[in-house]
Amino acid sequence: MTDIAERNQPTTDPVGDVNVWLKENWDPELSVEEWWERLGLSGWAAPGLPTNAYGKGLNRNDSVAVQNAIVEFGALSAPGGLGLMLAAPTIAAHGTQEQIDLYVRDIVTGQKAWCQLFSEPGAGSDLAGLQTRAVKDGDEWVVTGQKVWTSGGQVADLGMLIARTDPDVPKHQGITYFALDMHQQGKVDIRPLVEMTGHAMFNEVFMEEAIAPDSGLIGGLNNGWAVANTTLMNERASLGSGGGQAAASAATPGTVAKDLAKRVGDFVDGGGGKRRSAGGGGGGGMFGASYKLLVELAKGNGKITDPSVRQGLMRLHTLNELGRFNNLRAKAAKAAGLADIPGLPNISKLSMSEIVRQQRDIGLGILGAYGTPHAYSPEDQGRLNDATGNPFAAMVTGMSLFAQAPPIYGGTDQVQKNIIGERVLGLPKEANNDKTAAFKDLPKNA
Ligand SMILES: Cc1cc2nc3c(=O)[nH]c(=O)nc-3n(C[C@H](O)[C@H](O)[C@H](O)COP(=O)(O)OP(=O)(O)OC[C@H]3O[C@@H](n4cnc5c(N)ncnc54)[C@H](O)[C@@H]3O)c2cc1C
Repeated sequence: MTDIAERNQPTTDPVGDVNVWLKENWDPELSVEEWWERLGLSGWAAPGLPTNAYGKGLNRNDSVAVQNAIVEFGALSAPGGLGLMLAAPTIAAHGTQEQIDLYVRDIVTGQKAWCQLFSEPGAGSDLAGLQTRAVKDGDEWVVTGQKVWTSGGQVADLGMLIARTDPDVPKHQGITYFALDMHQQGKVDIRPLVEMTGHAMFNEVFMEEAIAPDSGLIGGLNNGWAVANTTLMNERASLGSGGGQAAASAATPGTVAKDLAKRVGDFVDGGGGKRRSAGGGGGGGMFGASYKLLVELAKGNGKITDPSVRQGLMRLHTLNELGRFNNLRAKAAKAAGLADIPGLPNISKLSMSEIVRQQRDIGLGILGAYGTPHAYSPEDQGRLNDATGNPFAAMVTGMSLFAQAPPIYGGTDQVQKNIIGERVLGLPKEANNDKTAAFKDLPKNA
């Protein structure tokens, strides 16, 4: 029952259907691995993927509704992270069926965790200027270079790697996309970077003659820029406002985190159907619930009657609603068979940056002096709660420190504006020769 025939069954009521499936299949006594195997192979872990790629071909809104239904039912949600969010849709779009069966299957069933090996010290916004080299040696590629800001690199089994395979052509044309095994001792070195929240969410990754098999080359030699853009479009769509991002799973996928053998019921609250906190992270999980959280916080300390706080909350509510309406607009256009609305993912991403800045400013305004101490560890969080008498204070400071991140990751605010200006509004591009000159002849950062 958990094969492609089931995934291919048309569904006009995805939430109703997933609830029926959950009643038959959810069992808190299973291990996390067993549960994710069932969920992944049924098509409900990533229902937005096509049916040949372990999904059900649902649109984004229906997929998010399904993911929320799983949480509300009280079952453990699908394996979260960059594998499901980025690698799976990219490989589904550009990979061969063999690669889909090799990589996507392990993503939807939580067997393998992925990270994104894109940014380098000299190539962030100018991603196509990357210097990591991959050189062919028989049926393998030898990879040497450095990546940075690699979220989740420390728990990843595989990386979405983009590397330069031809420096003699213009920079966008000589890049190839690989699946890189992160477990290559002495050849792939992962060094965590502690950020100002106190967490070490991302890493530097040094590759010294690391090996990527030819079979892990996704989407064709020197076609990596097109493949990487699929990853980036998925990133922007997932990170933007109004998308109703589904909750991340409380268990971590992959072989490194060691959650797979644990009892799945221990990751969800008994009976209540609520997701158990994953405990920490950068603050991303707080974004969805934060308007209500801030209202409660303001009620709790009497600031709800303060006109400037009320105005801030109203501004935040308006931004959230605009995001939701934009999303509905995109859905309606799709249902009517119209083309995608140009620039909408970029606008959503920009809007999310503004939302988190608003949340930061309102939250810290409500907390006043209590907003200055921050909990750098789970133990600190308890102590801070005791000191402030308010269980939300530590969440607000965590969210406020993390608010600097969304305007940077997935393409900075300035880069989103450039894209909207040049590709949507048709404004003239900055003059440069990087589309025509060979990569090796372009000036490099020191
Ligand atoms: C929380 C977080 C998680 C991340 N996770 C990952 C990850 O998992 N994998 C990964 O590969 N990367 C990751 N990144 C990296 C992220 O994609 C880059 O930080 C981002 O692309 C910006 O690159 P940069 O930091 O090199 O800044 P730069 O590109 O050096 O930019 C510096 C400043 O210059 C501005 N700027 C640059 N070019 C232009 C231009 N043409 N016009 C106008 N302004 C410009 C930028 O907007 C920015 O303000 C993460 C970043 C963060 C903050």
